[in-house]
Amino acid sequence: MPTATRQHYIAGEWVGSRSREALPTIDPSTGQELARLARGDAEDIDRAVAAAQEAFAAGPWPRMAPADRGRLLLRVAELIRAERDDLARLESQDTGKPLHQARTDVDVAARYYEFYGGVADKILGHTIPIAPGILDYTIREPWGAVGQIIPWNYPLQIGSRAIAAALAAGNTVVLKPAEEAALTVLRLGELTQQAGLPPGVLNVVTGYGPEAGAALAAHPGIRHLTFTGSVEVGILVAQAAARNIVPVALELGGKSPNVVFADADMDTALPTVVRSIVQNAGQTCSAGSRLLVEESAADRVLADIARRFAGIRIGRGVDDPDLGPVITGQQRERILGLIQAGRAEGAQVLAGGGVPERADLSGGYFIQPTLLAGVGADARIAQEEIFGPVLTAITFRDADDALKIANSTQYGLVAAVWTADLARAHALAAGLRSGQVFVNTYGAGGGVEMPFGGYGRSGYGREKGLEALNTYTQIKNVAIKYS
Ligand code: ADP
Repeated sequence: MPTATRQHYIAGEWVGSRSREALPTIDPSTGQELARLARGDAEDIDRAVAAAQEAFAAGPWPRMAPADRGRLLLRVAELIRAERDDLARLESQDTGKPLHQARTDVDVAARYYEFYGGVADKILGHTIPIAPGILDYTIREPWGAVGQIIPWNYPLQIGSRAIAAALAAGNTVVLKPAEEAALTVLRLGELTQQAGLPPGVLNVVTGYGPEAGAALAAHPGIRHLTFTGSVEVGILVAQAAARNIVPVALELGGKSPNVVFADADMDTALPTVVRSIVQNAGQTCSAGSRLLVEESAADRVLADIARRFAGIRIGRGVDDPDLGPVITGQQRERILGLIQAGRAEGAQVLAGGGVPERADLSGGYFIQPTLLAGVGADARIAQEEIFGPVLTAITFRDADDALKIANSTQYGLVAAVWTADLARAHALAAGLRSGQVFVNTYGAGGGVEMPFGGYGRSGYGREKGLEALNTYTQIKNVAIKYS
């Protein structure tokens, strides 16, 4: 069914692309067109950056009392919560994720506006003792107009964590959502308008990465960039930013391990291991995509997980199954190719391994939850981010061996250790090269409050928590000699 083209949100107005071109956005559960998005290019990005610059230079936003800025963000949170069901449904259609996961995303998105709304008036500096007669202090100031490029896997959550923190600090924003899933972020534009955010404070430009995204990354009017996505594109964004001496926060995915010792509380550990890879069809930067299991427990753990995988209900996101489709046909082919590469390297397929054979799912991009085992830590499926519902299991002998394997990929986003031995948990937490470490849990409920970001090729810079306020501000030192 042909649908109206969704427009860009620039300077508080809804406007089409200068080129008048549009692109389709597909419902991954059916393969059908869901809507059309304005296809933004360098000209549209130019307009949006000009609006954000104007709102920063002359508008009320950075000059407003921080408590008033905070109050407006709290209002955005209220509006998000008020339309929880509609937003969740739209997110579920656009991304394919099960409705209950989409509802959680809406709740977490609202939490970001609450959290950063609450700290807008608590962005503090220091006083530094220099000498008698000199008062030295620091102020955290916003960068100005900032650019944010986000992926399709959690548009509402990832959009909100970047927008809310940047705005709380007094920046103005140009955001480029992913071409595959932008509808809820456009709705966010409407909600911020309704909440009373001044025009130009938040601008949303849709379009393809190499067009709108690249233009935003290279724009000299942008003073800070946040990018969440693939390593390859992260490198391009950082290179473009470097030409303008613009700092970048990069969040680039991972190959995060769940390290399960034989003494772990398996009743808690194993459902969590499953959830950490099945959630969002494994399309989560912090997905628990490697299972490291102690040799002595391997047989029972793998049998248990294979059984749980076999019981997972697959279906269209809006029918609220356990597992929805992956985002595109191309992505499904990539994932199936990696499963094939695993087989070729000698992996045993203990669950799944292919496409569910069900007529009612035939138009969508579904993959069975897949458990692969019997490969070494250096196999491709143990090293590369698969970004699908595919878990690679590897056995280890002891804690030293586990640590070596856990640290053996180029990534370092999240790691979890499951053990009853507290000393061992501490030793691993100290040794893991990872931006977040969980012990006997995974994720701990969305993590709005916790700093999040990578070691190694998972990226640099931190979002979430109070730490994000350092990302979205620069420091000014003032020294006053008064006698
Ligand atoms: P994924 O593999 O998750 O799709 P990408 O890195 O391709 O991740 O995309 C993440 C975001 O980066 C999307 O908004 C996409 O449009 C954007 N993007 C893709 N290519 C470029 C590029 N060359 N420059 C800037 N942004 C890009």
